[in-house]
Amino acid sequence: MAQPYPPGARLLARPDQAAPCPTCGTLLGRGYPDCAACAETVDAYWLADWAALLSGNGVAEGTAEERDLAAMVLADDPGAHPWTCDDWAMRRTSCPYCRAELGSGALDCLSCASADQARWAWDHTAPPQAMRPDEHALRLTVAGLRSAEHRRPGVVGFWRLLLPFLLVGRAPTREESRRVRLHLMAGREDELSEAASVEEMAALPALPWRG
Ligand SMILES: [Zn+2]
Ligand SMILES: [Zn+2]
Repeated sequence: MAQPYPPGARLLARPDQAAPCPTCGTLLGRGYPDCAACAETVDAYWLADWAALLSGNGVAEGTAEERDLAAMVLADDPGAHPWTCDDWAMRRTSCPYCRAELGSGALDCLSCASADQARWAWDHTAPPQAMRPDEHALRLTVAGLRSAEHRRPGVVGFWRLLLPFLLVGRAPTREESRRVRLHLMAGREDELSEAASVEEMAALPALPWRG
């Protein structure tokens, strides 16, 4: 049966532009999930959808019913709920094997790996209007940062740089991503961090070869 694919992360307005976090001083979102203020800002988009799901089902937060609802959401077909609710249900569930938040454990935990893999069915089967490219990138980035200790540092650095801009709805083009990754590999994280936009990050001038 066709699922409704209700969109996610659209209940709250996005910020107009990337701005510094009052707590950690980086562009808001870059401290995710360790900086509480960055985490609160980012998670608010997921929580708004989850709160709507809870109230739609007459379930209160922090109850046993909430855990049951999370299990039901995870058992449903992709597209039955907003993708944000699938993510939040995973966060409310511990992995039966490694006890980490489901889907965020070590890469060799098969239970986490299969939960993480299953969630992306939403993105791959959704009709185009249900998910914009920046929303897919936001989902991917946040999921990755929640298991940052298991990921390659270069990828984590790329995600952190990008997150503030994904929050304002700006996804990098393939070419911009390629250039930012090149600058990162060249050890230019400081310059990238100071850039005020994706364009600026991608447009850092090439360094002269040092010999
Ligand atoms: Zn912060
Ligand atoms: Zn696990």
